[in-house]
Amino acid sequence: MRKIVVIGGVAGGMSAATRLRRLDEEASITVVERSGHVSFANCGLPYRLGGVIEERSALLLQTPESLAARFALDVRVRHEARAIDRANRRVTVRDLASGEDVELEYDALVLSPGARPVRPPLPGIEVAHTLRDVEDLDALVASARGAREAVVVGGGFIGVEVAENLVHRGIGVTLVEATGQVMAPLDPEMVEPVHAAMRAAGVRLVLGTSVERIEPGERHVVHLSDGQAVPAGLVVAAIGVRPETSLAAAAGLALGERGGILVDDSLRTSDPAIFAVGDAVEKRDGLDSSAVLVPLANTANRQGRIVADVVVGRPGADRPVLGTAIVGVFGVAAASVGWNEKRLRAAGRPHRVLHTHPGSHAGYYPGSETMALKLLVDPLTDEILGAQGVGRDGVDKRIDVIATAMTGRLTAADLADLELAYAPQFGSAKDPVNMLGWVDRAVADGDVETLQWHELDAALAAGATLLDVRTAAEHAARPVPGALNVPVDELRSRLGELPSGPLVVHCEVGLRGYVAARLLTQHGREVRNLDGGYRTWAAGTASQRATAAAGGMGPGTASLLRA
Ligand code: FAD
Repeated sequence: MRKIVVIGGVAGGMSAATRLRRLDEEASITVVERSGHVSFANCGLPYRLGGVIEERSALLLQTPESLAARFALDVRVRHEARAIDRANRRVTVRDLASGEDVELEYDALVLSPGARPVRPPLPGIEVAHTLRDVEDLDALVASARGAREAVVVGGGFIGVEVAENLVHRGIGVTLVEATGQVMAPLDPEMVEPVHAAMRAAGVRLVLGTSVERIEPGERHVVHLSDGQAVPAGLVVAAIGVRPETSLAAAAGLALGERGGILVDDSLRTSDPAIFAVGDAVEKRDGLDSSAVLVPLANTANRQGRIVADVVVGRPGADRPVLGTAIVGVFGVAAASVGWNEKRLRAAGRPHRVLHTHPGSHAGYYPGSETMALKLLVDPLTDEILGAQGVGRDGVDKRIDVIATAMTGRLTAADLADLELAYAPQFGSAKDPVNMLGWVDRAVADGDVETLQWHELDAALAAGATLLDVRTAAEHAARPVPGALNVPVDELRSRLGELPSGPLVVHCEVGLRGYVAARLLTQHGREVRNLDGGYRTWAAGTASQRATAAAGGMGPGTASLLRA
């Protein structure tokens, strides 16, 4: 009988344990979990805080009893693995209720200890809550009951979700973020709708600013780097997570360059009897195979399944990660896959950028919402390097289709040929994903040359004329300074009015600009189309202004602007 011990009983650990049982009815499988719950929905924690998930019990997907009944697992909650004796294949486990230690023998040990929230070494940080498990949630809910205002430190996924849910509880929220934007996976021109939705819902965003210290009290006072002192009944620190590696490191298991547990493609650590999965391990990047930390639930669950196969002797190989992720905040979804432009620039990797603003479904069918999509493509191979999407509807499926295309190694031009489900309430006969493929082909084939929002000032300074081909009403309502207005439908008859020299055309989203650029090119003019049109330019310049006003440059924005 194989003896298997699993440390960590949530996403990766419980996926491994339950599949192990499905593959091996005879094995002894023990799961050790430090917190009071196993298989809880950590991704749902913020929504219980806000009351969106009405019952706390909805988060508790399994209990030790239910797992014993269905999977014959020996699940020990409030038990902490304290040490691994690799030579004798034993784990020392402490019962946190009684304080007693027991030794568990193993033939195979699976580590899925997750990641712990980062607590910056700031004066007063001990009063700040973090959110990782159900106990954290209970403490946070208790503090939130008496609070009228809160400070959330950090604008990543969890910070943004916590901010939204505190607002749902009627608490005034200040979100402090050290860089110039929330949601680092998004490029600056893509994140503006997220900033706008948060501000519209009453969140005070303090960007480009960091917390220097917290003065604890009945009402805490949070002191910021710009001199502000913000009172807060509740402070939540959400500035990121670090792999939980203390047990592995103490046992002498190799850690990787990013500080996660080092595993091979079979999820085996430097000890052949010990495996590791989930947030605690380093993964390989899907684009350049570099070591990366990607703390996401899908990866942890998939790895849990693969490791079970490997433990019972089946072939199983972990895939490189794309980091596909999504967050919803006040009705706006923001999703991304692969690398963003900031990272491509920092790595000096050549890339083509495409922005579109399609409808979530056919415009004539009620309820269509405009979204912003961005595709990043290798200009030499047409490989898809990354994508981002922001909008109120339909973003998730477009990013998931692109993630699938990337996994299947389709090129950007291949997106044009995808046969996707269509009826007016769901999409368009020319789906936004197909559209990205067409735009890519137009640029790759040289049918149109594009200019990015942050390149416009330089092009105009070099003598180009900016031509707005929208209607006069659109031009008046939402101008780009210095543009000449000739609507696309009048362009053929008014060619003689255009000044000589290079032209930059723009419209609202880039499509009429493309039509105008084709017309002008065929009339011998040197012309570039402002990619993504007015909307991308307006979002990019708004983010630039906000960052500058906050007195700081987010690292991402700064690198874009320098380029
Ligand atoms: P976990 O699921 O965290 O499980 C690790 C467990 O190991 C912990 O319960 C811990 O108590 C236990 N443990 C650690 N050390 C020991 C020890 N020595 N002895 C015993 N037990 C130990 N991901 C998404 O993809 N989408 C989301 O929307 C999303 N939302 C999230 C929201 C929140 C608030 C949080 C905290 C995370 C969210 N995540 C989300 C991340 C996702 O939950 C993790 O990627 C995933 O749970 C990682 O799985 P894991 O098995 O590696 O670790």
